[in-house]
Amino acid sequence: MDKICVTVWNEYLHEVQFEEIAKVYPNGIHGCIAGFLQKAGMQTRTATLRQPQHGLTDAVLAETDVLVWWGHMAHDAVEDAVVQAVCRRVEEGMGLVVLHSGHASKVFRRLCGMDTGALKWREDGEKEIIWVVDPGHPIAEGLEEKFIIPHEEMYGEHFNIPAPDQLVFISWFEGGEVFRSGCCYHRGKGKIFYFRPGHEAFATYEIPEVQKVITNAVRWAAPGNAPPITYGNTQPVVSFTPDDAFSGVAGLHDAKAGDS
Ligand code: ZN
Repeated sequence: MDKICVTVWNEYLHEVQFEEIAKVYPNGIHGCIAGFLQKAGMQTRTATLRQPQHGLTDAVLAETDVLVWWGHMAHDAVEDAVVQAVCRRVEEGMGLVVLHSGHASKVFRRLCGMDTGALKWREDGEKEIIWVVDPGHPIAEGLEEKFIIPHEEMYGEHFNIPAPDQLVFISWFEGGEVFRSGCCYHRGKGKIFYFRPGHEAFATYEIPEVQKVITNAVRWAAPGNAPPITYGNTQPVVSFTPDDAFSGVAGLHDAKAGDS
């Protein structure tokens, strides 16, 4: 089987602007994620905000099976043309794994139809317990019923998202809040997974269970051999007699004419 081609996109600003964050992720968040995906047998490349077209040219997107997205402070700096190209590729079948503060990214909000994607948050380094609520889901494969992240930013409900097609994880935080942490969506032929953890100040992406979830999610979101989709005006796929099909409608028209 061909290797899954993953592009890991990171705005890559916190690691450049803040020394303490650079210590957490010396190769950038994108470097860390691409590293463990590569070890899992995937073909990886990275792309960042400051590259031309944010590193997401049509050629790169065409070669990408799954795009991983981490952004936080510069969602608005992502060019609309790139956002549109990403969203179109998702509808064509490219997988998308949106991480942590990517909940407010243009791509996720556009694909999920949200104005804000708002949520509650608190940066106190609280313990997070991530519970598997759909143990049969491929993204939960190989996990125990729960795993613990010792220190994370809290995200709490209400999380302003459309009801996910499948909910795989729910988080509990030390301060009492809960959060829908692993949400699956389908758009056109594309699969989307939102995964909550990954605040830049903590080495969350070094945690084995977190790496397993992201690796599983990339495999789940990778396009399979789905049939081609056609849209627009179309001819019947089986022969039928148009007069029969419209007889009910004709009757309705007669009744309306009688009313007036
Ligand atoms: Zn954060």
